[in-house]
Amino acid sequence: MTRYLFEPPAQPAAPIDGRSETFPIHRIFCVGRNYEAHAKEMGVAVDREAPFYFIKGAYAYVPSGATVPYPPRTNNYHYEMELVVAMGGEAFRMPEAKALDAVFGYACGLDMTRRDLQLAERAKQRPWDLGKNFEQAAVLSTIVPASRIGHPTSGGIALKVNGATRQSSDLSQLIWSIPALIAHLSTFYHLQPGDLIYTGTPEGVGPVVAGDRLEGGIDGVGTLALTIGPAE
Ligand code: MN
Repeated sequence: MTRYLFEPPAQPAAPIDGRSETFPIHRIFCVGRNYEAHAKEMGVAVDREAPFYFIKGAYAYVPSGATVPYPPRTNNYHYEMELVVAMGGEAFRMPEAKALDAVFGYACGLDMTRRDLQLAERAKQRPWDLGKNFEQAAVLSTIVPASRIGHPTSGGIALKVNGATRQSSDLSQLIWSIPALIAHLSTFYHLQPGDLIYTGTPEGVGPVVAGDRLEGGIDGVGTLALTIGPAE
């Protein structure tokens, strides 16, 4: 029997719509620049050759409905509303035509970002970890099984801050489709049940401050909410 030196961290797990089981989260893959209008507002061109990724640890997971403290070392804390894929099967070198077989379901997500740190890292050609991979930076709604809603390829994706619409686009604007992302990402990794893929944000990203209330939704998938608390 293994005896640990200290109690290991609790396994992050997300609620599943209509199920008593929860979804244990393994890795959180995030796609960069998957909507052309967002790439443009970030002052960069879309790479049509291949998608690119960054990773957040499972410790970044925070459930929809939470209040999170304004994070440390930033003055430009941004929301990014995204469709999230929840993997239910294994995928390695998965052909696009079979990729959806490995998807358990979908959720709404917020890829919360310390934009000032990310842009400083980008300017120095350094990794984006400080800007992207931090505690409570991956907000996730309840996961809905694909067996019930199918595999969304179109439908509105929107985010409001304090009741005012800040992001409003459509999943049909995704540059890399869900099957294309799984096929490509699975050439680099053995994707596993519990992996999440944040598929990128549309245009309209912007800063939030303590006291702000974020409400997002994706047609046919669900809704999420987040409140920003004061800095610790
Ligand atoms: Mn993002």
